[in-house]
Amino acid sequence: MTTLLLSAATALAIGGAAKAQDFELPPNSFDEVAPGVWSLMLFGVNSMVVVGEDGVLVTDPAVGARAQMMIGMIAEVTDKPITHVALSHEHYDHAGGADVFEGAEVIAHENVPEVLAMSRLFPMPEVNTTFDDTHSVDLGGISVDMYHLGHGDGTGTAIMHVPEADVVFSADMYEDKSFTAAAWKEDTNLVGLRDYLNKMVELEPVWAINTHQPGNALEALKENAELQNKIYDQVFEAYSAAVSQGGLPAGFPLVFSLPSQISMPEYSEWNNYEQGLPGYVNRMSLSLFHGG
Ligand SMILES: [Zn+2]
Repeated sequence: MTTLLLSAATALAIGGAAKAQDFELPPNSFDEVAPGVWSLMLFGVNSMVVVGEDGVLVTDPAVGARAQMMIGMIAEVTDKPITHVALSHEHYDHAGGADVFEGAEVIAHENVPEVLAMSRLFPMPEVNTTFDDTHSVDLGGISVDMYHLGHGDGTGTAIMHVPEADVVFSADMYEDKSFTAAAWKEDTNLVGLRDYLNKMVELEPVWAINTHQPGNALEALKENAELQNKIYDQVFEAYSAAVSQGGLPAGFPLVFSLPSQISMPEYSEWNNYEQGLPGYVNRMSLSLFHGG
């Protein structure tokens, strides 16, 4: 069991990429952050656990060994059955283990199942319910709204909102005063990611649960929304100026030059600024100009 858990933790640390440089994991914890909403940090993955009168919803179990442990931890705070597993997106270090919750309905955006079906290294769960733009789960006295706004981190991105408790949940969208390593952002659409961050801020949450960060990430959410808005404005302005002069071909050189041209010294104290900012500009540039 120990070996299994250690290897799960290592896999999560690598897959989670929250601290790709040093693989440092936050300590495990399980706290009720608002009435009926819990934050379950285990092996570097923070799951939202929502307890209603009729059942329990959990997010992103990550891997089977972690899912098994979640069942035991949740049983200590409620005798309600785990009825729903809501997936934030298709990445394997989030979706794995969803099938461990026997009889629970696995919910994800409609783009998720085809990517899970491509998994060659890890067993992936079957998704029972898919949705297009929004999906709401009524757990009895408390509900979870899922929103898909487009391609964010992956193509089947969903953020979640618990309106009765003023909590939002998201995965792989931002880090606290840290730029995520570029290697992990290669299939992230920064235009979409910015939309998700702004949407969560507009929902005016009191708590923001973030999959690779412990505690209340509300300030980190707001700071990162502001950061992405600033990057978007600068990249948009550069392409607008070029394209208005020389049409689409005038934008091509910017794909190569912009990442090293934009500096934002006000973020120089953030972790991984030197490599991370050019990475974000590169992704924002491609997402705006190229669509991917
Ligand atoms: Zn991801």
